[in-house]
Amino acid sequence: MTRRTCKQLRIGHVTIGGDAPIVVQSMTKTDTRDVTATINQIKELEDCGCEIVRVAVPDNETAKSLASIKKSVSLPIIADIHFDYRLALAALQAGVDGLRLNPGNIGDREQIAIVVAAAKEKEVPVRIGVNAGSLPVNFQPNMPLAERMVNMALEQIKFMESLDFDLIKVSLKAFDVLTTIQVYQMIADKIPYPLHLGITEAGLPRTGAIRSAVGIGILLHQGIGDTIRVSLSAHPCEEVLVAYEILKSLGLRQRGPILVSCPSCGRAEVDIIALAEAVSKRLQKISKPIKVAVMGCVVNGPGEAKDADVGIACGRGKGAIFRKGEVVNTTSEDSYLEAIMAEINRIA
Ligand code: SF4
Repeated sequence: MTRRTCKQLRIGHVTIGGDAPIVVQSMTKTDTRDVTATINQIKELEDCGCEIVRVAVPDNETAKSLASIKKSVSLPIIADIHFDYRLALAALQAGVDGLRLNPGNIGDREQIAIVVAAAKEKEVPVRIGVNAGSLPVNFQPNMPLAERMVNMALEQIKFMESLDFDLIKVSLKAFDVLTTIQVYQMIADKIPYPLHLGITEAGLPRTGAIRSAVGIGILLHQGIGDTIRVSLSAHPCEEVLVAYEILKSLGLRQRGPILVSCPSCGRAEVDIIALAEAVSKRLQKISKPIKVAVMGCVVNGPGEAKDADVGIACGRGKGAIFRKGEVVNTTSEDSYLEAIMAEINRIA
């Protein structure tokens, strides 16, 4: 995988682009006016590995709450602004670390120029976030959707550059995975700025995770993408966990254990699915990047998971604890969970 080269920028204390790690973002799902609930959710997000959080700023009252939120959290905050440029100014005033603007719904160039001037003064990056669903209807109506999205982004970038502003990050999101892949591929070598990836409104956890893994994963494998957000109809920590699974599966980031579990088959002597789920739940508290295997039989288990740091292969009434494919202990069926966790805790 050769990573696309681009400028680096900083959102708060987090570096994005260039050779910086691919950054995991999410977005709060609280009413931003509820300062306590929003602070609590941002802290939860930080605990589960989120590195930058975006908050919706739909009105003035929300913009006012940003200053209190900002003072109480350490994650960099991006204010998500639609329609009203004055909210962007208020968010900058409140001390946010980044702005996300949708050019499709702040049409007035003078207003965008005012926001850009304020962002420049505070050295706050702006993400130009083009969404397939919110392109102005009169913007190149006869062109294919992908071209319209890319051209909209390029037009906005050119305008910001004409204002001598280059703290730019770009996203081009669509619900359709193939369109998303196409637009990022089209823009990747046309601009020197970091790209934020996501499949917008990807859906409920199962389908949303798969759609995101396919779209984001293909682009990352092509070296495209500097930050990612998995959009799920679920708690935002679920988005962060899925984002890390995508990055871990491509060897781009390490965070927490990787669980290898066999699918079970007619040879399994225990409920391997229940055991794998129980182990997975306990692993959420471990941050060390170890590989753990839960296998359904002693015949094939250790061999099939020989690169696991530690694992269990369950036989009839008793199971074998193994390290790197070598059996190091045996345990009875009623203590499988405790035995594997004891071994995991020893190395973690
Ligand atoms: Fe079946 Fe054993 Fe393989 Fe699990 S490890 S799928 S039980 S053969």
